[in-house]
Amino acid sequence: VSSVELTQAAIDRATAVDDRVKAFNSVNPEDALAQAAASDARRSVGQARGPLDGIPVSLKDVIAVRDQPLTASSKMLENFVSPYDATVTEKLKAAGAVLWGRANLDEFAMGSSTENSAFQTTCNPYDLDRVPGGSSGGSAAAVAAGEAVATLGSDTGGSIRQPAAFCNVVGLKPTYGLVSRYGLAAFASSLDQIGPFTRTVEDAAIMLGAIAGHDPRDSTSFKTDVPDYRAALSEKKGPWKLGIPKEYFGEGLDPEVGAAIEKAIAFYREQGCEIKEVSLPHTPYCLSTYYIIATAEASSNLARYDGIRYTHRSADAQDVVDLYFKSRAEGFGPEVKRRIILGTYVLSSGYYDAYYLRAQKVRTLIRQDFLNAYEQVDAILTPTTPTPAFKAGEKAADPLAMYLSDIYTIGVNLAGLPGISIPAGFTSAGLPIGLQLIGQPYAEADLLAIAHAYD
Ligand code: GLN
Repeated sequence: VSSVELTQAAIDRATAVDDRVKAFNSVNPEDALAQAAASDARRSVGQARGPLDGIPVSLKDVIAVRDQPLTASSKMLENFVSPYDATVTEKLKAAGAVLWGRANLDEFAMGSSTENSAFQTTCNPYDLDRVPGGSSGGSAAAVAAGEAVATLGSDTGGSIRQPAAFCNVVGLKPTYGLVSRYGLAAFASSLDQIGPFTRTVEDAAIMLGAIAGHDPRDSTSFKTDVPDYRAALSEKKGPWKLGIPKEYFGEGLDPEVGAAIEKAIAFYREQGCEIKEVSLPHTPYCLSTYYIIATAEASSNLARYDGIRYTHRSADAQDVVDLYFKSRAEGFGPEVKRRIILGTYVLSSGYYDAYYLRAQKVRTLIRQDFLNAYEQVDAILTPTTPTPAFKAGEKAADPLAMYLSDIYTIGVNLAGLPGISIPAGFTSAGLPIGLQLIGQPYAEADLLAIAHAYD
């Protein structure tokens, strides 16, 4: 098919279903078709730019695209149009991708259900009464519903892998530092990574190859070669040693999810993989450590939204201090405010040592747990989430219950490791189940090959 046909199909699909799925905050059909026509023109003269040329890709509405809105699903940025491209956006444009639509999220990527979006709640395409996960719920639902071939999300504590699991798609969080964060509206800078949502692991390999690589504009970007991830899928053939962390199979794991993961373990065993029990003893501290570090960084990162520059500005302020207070009070939603307050508290003098500094030390222990496990195994296999997608509204009033849905994904961010969620079957009620594979630092080629075997 031509890119115009493919892009038109994505547009038609969105026109048909997005009033129910609500994956997109905004769409740009005419612009997308013009990009597609340019791609077809390139291809007709033999100048295709590789496998992504002409493919409709949607970005989470927190990644900058020049001259397109960037709302972060927040009233604070409701009318903001980005004057520049993120590095990943530049790279996708260079690869010829058709940038189409802006995918919904929890406000500033804080949440696990997209219910924290200031504009709309995305629905799970497999059951519209249920959440698609979050915070990249729009990106996951867009791929699942056929409104885009691939999308980008961001993952700070599970925001790519958890919605991928809930929506039966592939979601990859790269190693911290592999993909540039330049042009990603920051939530927690030491944890945030951009990564792809796709239907297959092969597509994830293609997308990662397009967006990875060193960027001097991101000081935490790692200088490393970008291998041919797609070629690695067929070149790298196990058998691998896979670790099963005993702490991830205890209380709270839905039995049907557990059974699906056991099935995947049996599959790998049949392939000749060695399956070993490993221990990640600091797992019980992951959630509390994450919510100290992530909120601390968020309170600092979100200080820039001040009502003075490019953000929402209160209409009835008396003076500049009042303007600052009222703009932030009106612009931020309740979850964002909760985190700014928590983060300010853990960083304040007198509490810094007791909370923030201690959390940083525990973070080191959590990373060391994984590195110790990697002395024995190539990768770690877990469920992505303890339960399948929950009902909209079910956890909205209870932030702690919501936080628990990231229990298996959060340690990976604290340790800076790559993790992927791939489809692993359905519950008896027809809800998707995700299998998580966690890799060694910068070993995405191996991780993708292991995932590909079960795809
Ligand atoms: N659900 C987690 C949170 O609310 C993770 C979010 C994310 O990865 N962006 O912080």
